[in-house]
Amino acid sequence: ALVVGRRVKSRKKWNRVVGVLKELEESCETTVGRLRQVVDAMAVEMHAGLASEGGSKLKMLLTFVDNLPSGSEKGIFYALDLGGTNFRVLRVELGGQRSDLDPDVEQQPIPEQLMTGRSEDLFDFIASSLYRFVEKGNDSVQSPVTKELGFTFSFPVKQTSVSSGVLIKWTKAFAINDMVGKEVAGALQQALTRKGLNMRVAVLQVNDTVGTIALGRYHDEDTVAAVIIGTGTNACYWERTDAIIKCQGLVTTSGSMVVNMEWGNFWSSHLPRTSYDIELDAESPNPNDQGFEKMISGMYLGDIVRRVILRMSEESDIFGPVSFRLYMPFALRTPVMAAMHEDDSPELMEVARILKDVLDIPDIPLKARKLVVKICDVVTRRAARLAAAGIVGILKKIGRDGSGGITGGRSRSDVKMRRTAVAVEGSLYTQYTMFREYLHEALNEILGEDIARHVVINVTEDGSGTGASLLAASHSSSGTVDNI
Ligand code: BGC
Ligand code: MG
Repeated sequence: ALVVGRRVKSRKKWNRVVGVLKELEESCETTVGRLRQVVDAMAVEMHAGLASEGGSKLKMLLTFVDNLPSGSEKGIFYALDLGGTNFRVLRVELGGQRSDLDPDVEQQPIPEQLMTGRSEDLFDFIASSLYRFVEKGNDSVQSPVTKELGFTFSFPVKQTSVSSGVLIKWTKAFAINDMVGKEVAGALQQALTRKGLNMRVAVLQVNDTVGTIALGRYHDEDTVAAVIIGTGTNACYWERTDAIIKCQGLVTTSGSMVVNMEWGNFWSSHLPRTSYDIELDAESPNPNDQGFEKMISGMYLGDIVRRVILRMSEESDIFGPVSFRLYMPFALRTPVMAAMHEDDSPELMEVARILKDVLDIPDIPLKARKLVVKICDVVTRRAARLAAAGIVGILKKIGRDGSGGITGGRSRSDVKMRRTAVAVEGSLYTQYTMFREYLHEALNEILGEDIARHVVINVTEDGSGTGASLLAASHSSSGTVDNI
């Protein structure tokens, strides 16, 4: 009788866990119908953000980047890349012909205390790294020749020119209050001066998505947009200036400009939101901000999964006594979560190892390990499919989704779909196979195979670094400028 009693009890608990999973699956549902609503909402918000300042949660920021590299750029250019987990300095030599770029790169993690301290400390760190890097190379620090530098700063900036702009707000793990509302490139110049560095630097300041579209265009002329899915997420695209209604009289030689959407802040009632998302947002350093980003990007996915496991652990004993690590924000990082998701050993030994080492949950049955993989799958699939919907939203806005623009009209069959390339970068897309596959699958579902055939996703290697140096080149007075 005792044995029967125990069995009944544990089956009841298992049922509860299954209930939690079911609820998660339902609230993460992304049917094609729902994704199409997200596509439409994205296109509508893009219009609204271009129509007036503050017209949408999508900021649709001007970048003043009005020409993209053509391949004919020449000279030595530098770039700094700040924005995610690592900080990088690089130098690239351009020979005047499209080629495989082979930059010298130095990379280091950003000390955590610098992400939330004083802006002076952060910029001093950047300035010293740049100085050391230049000193080590063949190029002289003292040389009277101005070093042309692309500075990739992967946060929302209200640009006033291609070389200046103020920080609107921090995102991801950064929170340096004294910097908000301040000139970014100016802070870098000041740090260089403060260090007494005898170095003339012409800074061009771009978002990482903008560097990525530049590198994408360098390698593929049909590139119209760039998407980053890494620690954070964002997209930019090539827009006609006459469509940027909030900035009347904007004239560029190309007639176009790159627009930084800041899509991480996109919001729509069609987004499938769970109680875990709501809690994550409330406990984040930027509540009510970056809603789309919090469902998609690498900083958050692992933490959503942690919250689901915690909930299941509280409701049942299938994970043993509730591990204190489950209460620690970000205890489960996305790369670790991806490793569990992609464990293809029959016994899920990698899942077992990670649960034990990282979350301090030892010895759980295979059935429970399978459940963990399922949670990862639900969370990642939703993220990848939403990112795909975002991409199609951009294509729709510029009339490259095969439907003839936002107002539609023409039927699918009589539209000649032009080859359209989107440059994509970021660890989620490049390092996480399941994520990438789900994204492609969703693109096909939303667009239909006939249209999707014409849409090419190109992975750029280090657009946020190399791409920025290319832009420094294509916007330089000494380099060869080719307008498109
Ligand atoms: C920032 C964007 C950036 C993206 C990817 C977001 O959190 O707001 O400016 O492009 O992360 O790095
Ligand atoms: Mg980056």
